[in-house]
Amino acid sequence: DAFIPKIIEVNYIEGSGDKRWSSHDFSWTKELEVNNKKVFGNHSFRPNQREVINATMSGCDVFVLMPTGGGKSLTYQLPALICHGITLVISPLVSLIQDQIMHLLQANIPAAYLSANMEWTEQQEILRELTSDYCKYKLLYVTPEKVVKSDNLLRHLENLHFRELLARIVIDEAHCVSQWGHDFRPDYQGLGILKQKFPNTPVLALTATATASVKEDVVQALGLVNCVVFRQSFNRPNLWYSVVPKTKKCLEDIDKFIRENHFDECGIIYCLSRMDCEKVAGNLQECGHKCAFYHGSMDPSQRSFVQNQWSKDEINIICATVAFGMGINKPDVRFVIHHSLPKSIEGYHQECGRAGRDGQRSSCVLYYSYSDYIRVKHMISQGSIEQSPMASGYNRSNMINPGSILETNTENLMRMVSYCENDVDCRRLLQLVHFGEKFNSSTCHKTCDNCLKITNFIEKDVTEIAKQLVELVKLTGQRFSSSHILEVYRGSFSQMVKKNRHETVSLHAAGKHLAKGEASRILHHLVVEDILVEEVKKSDFYGSVSSILKVNELKVCNLFAGHKIILRFPSSVKATKPGKSDATPAKGSLTSGKLNVIPIDTPQPQTEVDLNLSAKL
Ligand code: ADP
Ligand code: MG
Ligand code: ZN
Repeated sequence: DAFIPKIIEVNYIEGSGDKRWSSHDFSWTKELEVNNKKVFGNHSFRPNQREVINATMSGCDVFVLMPTGGGKSLTYQLPALICHGITLVISPLVSLIQDQIMHLLQANIPAAYLSANMEWTEQQEILRELTSDYCKYKLLYVTPEKVVKSDNLLRHLENLHFRELLARIVIDEAHCVSQWGHDFRPDYQGLGILKQKFPNTPVLALTATATASVKEDVVQALGLVNCVVFRQSFNRPNLWYSVVPKTKKCLEDIDKFIRENHFDECGIIYCLSRMDCEKVAGNLQECGHKCAFYHGSMDPSQRSFVQNQWSKDEINIICATVAFGMGINKPDVRFVIHHSLPKSIEGYHQECGRAGRDGQRSSCVLYYSYSDYIRVKHMISQGSIEQSPMASGYNRSNMINPGSILETNTENLMRMVSYCENDVDCRRLLQLVHFGEKFNSSTCHKTCDNCLKITNFIEKDVTEIAKQLVELVKLTGQRFSSSHILEVYRGSFSQMVKKNRHETVSLHAAGKHLAKGEASRILHHLVVEDILVEEVKKSDFYGSVSSILKVNELKVCNLFAGHKIILRFPSSVKATKPGKSDATPAKGSLTSGKLNVIPIDTPQPQTEVDLNLSAKL
């Protein structure tokens, strides 16, 4: 029988900006600082690290949203070191776990891991150590499968708990809980059992990916009730973003781009299929680049050989599927190129995030064509698309609701398409809005293609369209997602539209005359302005999450009382045609041409942005 999750009311407490957590007066402050330097070799704490540590050590359940490379591991490894007892860490990938254990052992911190594919005797030995009075381990890493499937492990945890030796439970890469995220792992959904069994043991959930829906999913599945949330800006000022039309001579363009901007520098080229990886790599090798490919059907020794060569700078460029990248910590990746359309904005953001870890300027170039969209969509529906390794173990027979996953994936892909087809708004803004973060485009300082090319723009009053969209949300009963509303507005006759009889609604097809992307921009803007609210809803039966547009009555009256909505449109660039982008990009834009022609504004240092999260999420 289907497991029907109970929906809990969650009380989120905003942690970022709360002075209490940055205090230096905790009884453990001194010990923290000493060990941070002595054991971990860090001179100071990075943004939010001290705060997260103080909150979790005070016994709170904590949810941390921190970009990749932000230093999440320290926020549980340091407490594990100085707290009495053992810290349980759930992590999705054995290779990630091994990497962490290696670092811990190097720092003389005793740690171990248990996974299903380990020798039985080895597992027994570790379990035996857990029962001893003087258990030497400070951290025990396990895969989610282990927790969900091994009663033996649970018994040992109960025993540790009984002896007051279970210090803390850490869920790393917590977004794997969510079907809404890009690395869904069914076993993560079973982790709620931990909070049920150990209600008073503090839980620390960490991720670099969290839209409102993912966060809600995670918190629900884990059963966190009072939860302190820390988040910081996901903006990466040193990454320069651009989307370039993908033509038949895409490989020539890539070669030229690298040669002119990043010659002999290190980079990743993400490709859709294994064959693409090999083709692109072969082609670039012929052009004289030190290049190799990496994908899921290579055997592990081949893969680690390539990864190793890359780490040692023996090769510069890796052409890879999304299987490559997890846990990669190379600081000087100067470019990430997407040879094809990524599956979601979250995935895209994370893949780009592997560039420029050292804070130096780096490029993120996406080659977009509408035909790739069709290709990706097809691969998703066939289940033939390569997953990131975090999502491996993803088993179709195991899925809770295959239909809803397909819908989610399709919606994620649609958002990625509209990102690519948007040739007006700041790329940073478009990405950050997706993470529920407000961003002022003027602080982009022309470090994305759209900000760069729009020197001349006209302002257009779109108030009437905005009113129609709001009206449409009301007419359809405030129970549909934004993509559905747009479908109706554009006059679609899709199954869904027909099923809900929207084609008889007075505003069906009212936005037919608009350029593609225009209505979605305006709708997006209404969400940013809080006139429409994207409400995350958990459907009680399958436990899946959907986001639904509602009208914010408090704000909407302004719209009808004469408040105007003005959006900027480029005056030099003609209106976008659906599916086709300009073959000749605007002059001076970040394309296969020289990056150096761009006037260099110094990007602002990454600042911590406090977000009024509780209001929105
Ligand atoms: P995340 O899990 O958030 O992606 P990690 O925990 O893997 O990030 O940390 C990324 C890198 O940052 C690691 O090499 C780590 O040693 C380093 N790091 C973490 N905290 C600090 C700090 N306070 N000072 C200097 N380096 C740090
Ligand atoms: Mg990590
Ligand atoms: Zn911009």
